[in-house]
Amino acid sequence: MNIHTIVIPTPYPIGDVNAFLVKGDRLSLFDVGPKTPEALEAIERGLKEAGYNLNDVEQVVLTHHHPDHSGWVDAFPEADILGHEYNDHFLRKTPEFMAYRTTFYIQQLQLQAVPEQYLDKIVEQKEALLLYGTTPLTKFISDGEEIPGHPGLKAIYTPGHAQSHLIFIEESTKEVIGGDLLLERVAPNPLVEPPTDLSYERPKSLIQQQESLKLLRDLDAAKVYPGHGDVITSVNQLIENRLKRDEMRLEQLIHHINGPKTVLQLTMDLYPANYKTELGLTLSKTLGYLDCLIRDGVVRVEEVNGVNIYTPA
Ligand SMILES: [Zn+2]
Repeated sequence: MNIHTIVIPTPYPIGDVNAFLVKGDRLSLFDVGPKTPEALEAIERGLKEAGYNLNDVEQVVLTHHHPDHSGWVDAFPEADILGHEYNDHFLRKTPEFMAYRTTFYIQQLQLQAVPEQYLDKIVEQKEALLLYGTTPLTKFISDGEEIPGHPGLKAIYTPGHAQSHLIFIEESTKEVIGGDLLLERVAPNPLVEPPTDLSYERPKSLIQQQESLKLLRDLDAAKVYPGHGDVITSVNQLIENRLKRDEMRLEQLIHHINGPKTVLQLTMDLYPANYKTELGLTLSKTLGYLDCLIRDGVVRVEEVNGVNIYTPA
């Protein structure tokens, strides 16, 4: 793949985000950074290094809808904007979708036993949507589809970290544009997000993430160009490490389920140092592990007075 990396600053703890300019029959930019002036400068600089400017980009392709990846869809009015259909909810932000999203999160947080006074704060934080772009997709890409202008470059649906997540594999060279599926330094958070069918059934994000990692493992990728950090070459080794690390966390968690517990209680047990400042992120991790323990048949869950109670199976 003829690929040029553009490193873009973000205001988030994760640090810089990568965008990838790929020259095929069309000139495509994979991911576009958060909607900050600094990010736009970095994009323009990176394009210039490769001999292009903003107007030369013929299509923008999104790995997922999170704002560090999708913000500057607004900088390419002439370009086609491609991605998984789910991105569109976060680009369009219709009042109906935003209301549905708030209701979904409040229901979930109540099930997790989060006290009333924290609900707004967590949901509001999640509403920090200012760094998202506002240009809707011009084309939906689904699992298995080839990217226009790039024969042999195929999208693979890989939900978990985001319900919109796609990776792109060049079939001849086994190079992968990986978004946030696999990162060298951190395991991406299995964020709780509303499901693609807009029902109220919560996707089991960590289980999805593990399945997506196994999918990537089976592709035998030679290289992953990740959303953050350097190119990954020991792809399957890193995947094994991630899966093993999850297993270790499950072992730890199971010891804390010595009687009936809520997600909030278990989050306080597992993350005593961080749960207060990062409640949303630590809750989603705990919940992810609990989903795995239920899958493995060692824990069961029962709704009592509107709150989910976890007990040993
Ligand atoms: Zn990211």
